[in-house]
Amino acid sequence: MQDVPLAITSLFEHGRRIHADSSVITWTDDGPMTSTFAEVGDRADRLAAALTRLGVGQGDRVGTFCWNNQTHLEAYLAVPSMGAVLHTLNIRLFPEQLAYVINHAADKVIIVDGSLAPLLAKVRDQLTTVEHIVVSGADADGLLGQTLDYETLLASERPGFEYPAMPERSAAAMCYTSGTTGNPKGVTYSHRSTYLHTFGIVSAQAMAFSQYDRLLLIVPMFHANAWGMPYAGWSVGADLVMPQQFLQGAPLAEIIEATRPTYSGAVPTVLNDILHTRPDADLSSLREIVCGGSAVPRSLIEAFETTYDVPVVQAWGMTETSPLAAIAKVPNGADPDDAMAWRARTGRPLPGVQIRICDDDGNPLPWDGEAQGEIEIRGPWITGSYHLDPSDEKFNDGWLRTGDVGSMEPNGFIQISDRAKDVIKSGGEWISSVDLENTLMGHPDVLEAAVVGVPDDRWDERPLACIVPAEGRPVDAGELRDYLAERVAKWWLPERWATIAEVPKTSVGKFDKKVLRQRYADGELDTIDL
Ligand code: ADP
Repeated sequence: MQDVPLAITSLFEHGRRIHADSSVITWTDDGPMTSTFAEVGDRADRLAAALTRLGVGQGDRVGTFCWNNQTHLEAYLAVPSMGAVLHTLNIRLFPEQLAYVINHAADKVIIVDGSLAPLLAKVRDQLTTVEHIVVSGADADGLLGQTLDYETLLASERPGFEYPAMPERSAAAMCYTSGTTGNPKGVTYSHRSTYLHTFGIVSAQAMAFSQYDRLLLIVPMFHANAWGMPYAGWSVGADLVMPQQFLQGAPLAEIIEATRPTYSGAVPTVLNDILHTRPDADLSSLREIVCGGSAVPRSLIEAFETTYDVPVVQAWGMTETSPLAAIAKVPNGADPDDAMAWRARTGRPLPGVQIRICDDDGNPLPWDGEAQGEIEIRGPWITGSYHLDPSDEKFNDGWLRTGDVGSMEPNGFIQISDRAKDVIKSGGEWISSVDLENTLMGHPDVLEAAVVGVPDDRWDERPLACIVPAEGRPVDAGELRDYLAERVAKWWLPERWATIAEVPKTSVGKFDKKVLRQRYADGELDTIDL
């Protein structure tokens, strides 16, 4: 067979030519702004030319500090295709982490949405490698010192850039993990890994994208490549809807009603927000929503079905896994009564992705649905190392140690019970905080629930349940405990309960349990003991 490199460039060229009339729709204060793939492709050419003129060469890093919008997509297409490396910067990182990742990746140019200039300005003085800042959209108001204007740069170039032939193993993009403990770690994607991941996710076994789809990109393009949807949608000619900063439940419902996407993806907190702010929304255009990033409560999947008649499919992955690794499709031949139970599990690996679970000594455990261990993963779109980080503690004999703890069914279904650092160890046995949370969130009085392990004299650790009550519903811990008692093992039942206004969240919207544990240790939580 012909040895054609698996390069993002070929996906880019394919989409712009074969699906020239597909649309990129960016939501703005004034409603939707639409361009065709052909127009976006031409602008990406101009961007590649402009970056070249600024001195960006092969292997140089170009940071983006942007919402999900057309500019960001232009950078997704132009930067890897010209042989440079796209570094998507998380706009919600703490300033010291933001400065760290920009310097660590040695970004040469940063493309920033003008509306985000105040956030980047906080670290501007600390950036040691950045030579140019290019501002798109709103004016940066001088906050970033000397800058270049994106539109002016593009206006002085022409479409028709000569993209180099890229070896498929060269770096295409980078993303740092959100670094809940310690500094963020950099993951570098190659052209080959992105290409293969793209085909993995467009397959019918995953998201089944085609030219008949319109994808609403809710997951930020700075977080794990928006779960791969920009390249996947572009490759098959699916329209791409970009919500920019309009990411709360109410505006998202409005965008869905106005643009009628067929597919979307979001973390559970975002879906929960839509559900609670706009239960009346018309989401009927959506054939499916993929949900992941943290465990998806069964109650959420059920609520989307009954409220909107929209199926929510659970997926699992990490920044390190490009990100899609597994998806929870009901196994063929499963008893229909068990369908919801399968959907509430974590999922089965995509073709090409290998999974195993290992004990504390790194030895593989059986797939019997019982044995619990750390999930390890291997495959062509799974990272083999971290950027400029020689430590190998995250790898075991070539497998990535995910830090997720769980079990495997004989049919390859993964069930994640916790992140290793969140598992509650009570009297030498493990309690799954995720199971407790998801069960509690099935109770109508509970808007959100986070369960953390806290020190206990007798058992070492015991669960503390932190409850955000549903509006207008006071929390009755005794009743919630009785509710749990019917659904989980008796020794799992939390003795300590706290009502909180909101679960603290990480920069990517996940429950930040570290903060809750600290608040408890500092005596800041008003707990009752049952
Ligand atoms: P970070 O590690 O930077 O917080 P990631 O998005 O890479 O951000 O997080 C990956 C982690 O998210 C996984 O290791 C896992 O703990 C969690 N996760 C993702 N999807 C699921 C899921 N469906 N069920 C349970 N946990 C999930």
